[in-house]
Amino acid sequence: MILKAIKKIPGVLLVLTFLLTIIILPSWAAPEKIIVGTSADWPPFEWVDSNNNFVGFDMDLLKVIAKSNGYDVEILDIGFDSLIPALQSGKVDLLAAGMTLTEERAAVADASNTYWSGNQGVLVREDSELNIATALSGGNSIGAQRGTTQADWLEDNLVQKGVNVKSLELYETNDLGIMDLVNKRIEVFVADTPAAEAFEKTNPIKIVGTINTEEQYVFYVQKGDPKGILPMVNEGLTRIQMSSIWNNLVNAYFIGDLTKISDCYAKFGSLLDEDVEAFAKNLAQCMMSQ
Ligand code: GLN
Repeated sequence: MILKAIKKIPGVLLVLTFLLTIIILPSWAAPEKIIVGTSADWPPFEWVDSNNNFVGFDMDLLKVIAKSNGYDVEILDIGFDSLIPALQSGKVDLLAAGMTLTEERAAVADASNTYWSGNQGVLVREDSELNIATALSGGNSIGAQRGTTQADWLEDNLVQKGVNVKSLELYETNDLGIMDLVNKRIEVFVADTPAAEAFEKTNPIKIVGTINTEEQYVFYVQKGDPKGILPMVNEGLTRIQMSSIWNNLVNAYFIGDLTKISDCYAKFGSLLDEDVEAFAKNLAQCMMSQ
């Protein structure tokens, strides 16, 4: 019966219907996607919870911005020093990794508005006698993540200037550096203050001082913004900063107990697809609950 009916439809019409279906259907079925590159070793901005969710202030800011504009987000965990090359080659559309605005980066990528700021925290073991002066000039092995502004600062201001440093150890991830600090393979590790404070809470290490580099954190998109996503990111940031979402995400990630993240995300993460305000509110309450 159906076959007979189909036979009566002119061939051209059938081909046209088929073509329209394969062209239109995918764009109905899947919303457009932004591929985000990060280095997920930097709480409270980006890390991976025990259920393999990418969590953190950067991650949620972007998910909220993208989802409010009808985009899906795919996150790729890439070593920090490979982020800019990944953006340049088009492997990712946007970088979200607590990245500081620098001239070198701005020459090869376009930056969003600033959304946070920080300095450099100098970390030593909890039982160490070092202070900030002896930590940075007392012949110690000092570590930092490769490709970061702190790695550059240590190279330019200590190594190049002939300050008494035993070695500068550069790590693919912050986690590896913190592990070497705890295990006494290095004496000092430098990380941006928000991350240094988070590492201090969960490891037998302490901050002995800060280097005031005044890092301004931005998101980066490809030079010239070929995907046209930068205005959406900047408008999204402004809109979120004026709404309750901003305070709730700040409370969740900068005041809340980060060890609760897996539990809280399991409970409320799915709200991201339904109601971003309710997501941020519930996440904050959950992370700050006693
Ligand atoms: N803010 C520093 C930079 O941009 C470090 C960021 C990080 O370790 N994720 O280089």
